[in-house]
Amino acid sequence: MEKTRCLIIGSGPAGYTAGIYTGRADIKPILYEGEQPGGQLTITTEIENFPGYPEGIAGTAMMDDLKRQAQRFGCDVRTGFIKNIDLSQRPFHAVDDHGNEIEAETVIVATGASAKWIGLDSEKQFYGAGVSACATCDGYFYRNQEVAVVGGGDTACEEANYLSTLCSKVYLVHRRDELRASKAMQHRVLTNPKIEMCWNSRISQILGTDLDGVTGIELEDTKTGAKSQREVTGVFVAIGHKPNTDFLAGQLELDEQGYIKVQNPSAATSVPGVFAAGDVCDPNYRQAIVAAGKGCVAAMDVERFLNA
Ligand code: FAD
Ligand code: NAP
Repeated sequence: MEKTRCLIIGSGPAGYTAGIYTGRADIKPILYEGEQPGGQLTITTEIENFPGYPEGIAGTAMMDDLKRQAQRFGCDVRTGFIKNIDLSQRPFHAVDDHGNEIEAETVIVATGASAKWIGLDSEKQFYGAGVSACATCDGYFYRNQEVAVVGGGDTACEEANYLSTLCSKVYLVHRRDELRASKAMQHRVLTNPKIEMCWNSRISQILGTDLDGVTGIELEDTKTGAKSQREVTGVFVAIGHKPNTDFLAGQLELDEQGYIKVQNPSAATSVPGVFAAGDVCDPNYRQAIVAAGKGCVAAMDVERFLNA
């Protein structure tokens, strides 16, 4: 059985930053990339808000840079994913998707969170070409244009409010006639003159062409089935996120939304020797720079734990 002092699970900004720091601390970490090498940033186009890139940078290029930087310090980056892990006793025992077994003195879980999607073929078709799950990331590209946000929770309302500062109009599409969001958030949305509510509505089709990207949406009334269209160039899906923790099989303490609980400001989880960083333990910020920062925290915690 292979042995490591630190197993890093995930290759987003959190995982690679943890790889850089544990690598430089001579811990010789093993990092598993998972099924989405480079993480969420590889499915977007340009990153404009990560410090250090004044002209912006393609998500894939940035993640390639982070990977090479981690490898430069001896982080052993592997393809494949961790299928099972036993955290009941140290050293921890992990099995990858090829059946390889690893014994790890410490673990950093950096498996991110995945946006939930409506499930339309047209949503997939226009992903990154008008369809997004992150207004903070992509809203800027839709300045002075009309867009739609889907969802009725705090995230959807927050996204709609944010987009209303950039866009000429925001349609907020919700499947019921009442928002799930907090009263304060509801008030902000319902009194915002740039936001138009589309109650009892679901998007039945995202319209557009490969050349132009998104040009509109077809709405279906959830009560009457009546259809109508709106001209928009952007569709922001904000119907919730799911942290990628299924493979942990309930071995770490999670919050009520399923995010790993960490003992802030450290990255310590409920199991000594297991640390978590990035979107998998962050329902609030979900930004690359925050994930990278927390990857650094987790790596420093690992170093202290191993030296204690
Ligand atoms: P992720 O990037 O989600 O990476 C998780 C990693 O874990 C992946 O590599 C995955 O393969 C791996 N993994 C999962 N399960 C396993 C397993 N069992 N075994 C091994 N590996 C596993 N943020 C910004 O700051 N600026 C932006 O412009 C921006 N744009 C975005 C655009 C889009 C479309 C999206 C979806 C998000 C955007 N974000 C942006 C948010 C940003 O991508 C995330 O906050 C950040 O990627 C989180 O990093 P992470 O390392 O925690 O996880
Ligand atoms: P959420 O509260 O679960 O809301 C998801 C919304 O999406 C709901 O309105 C839901 O409709 C809708 N929805 C779910 N699946 C759908 C589908 N398939 N098609 C269409 N609509 C769908 O998720 P969230 O808004 O991301 O918030 C998550 C948590 O973070 C919440 O606890 C929230 O309070 C918190 N949060 C807080 C803040 C803040 O305080 N500033 C900001 C963001 C998030 P229904 O209502 O009909 O179920």
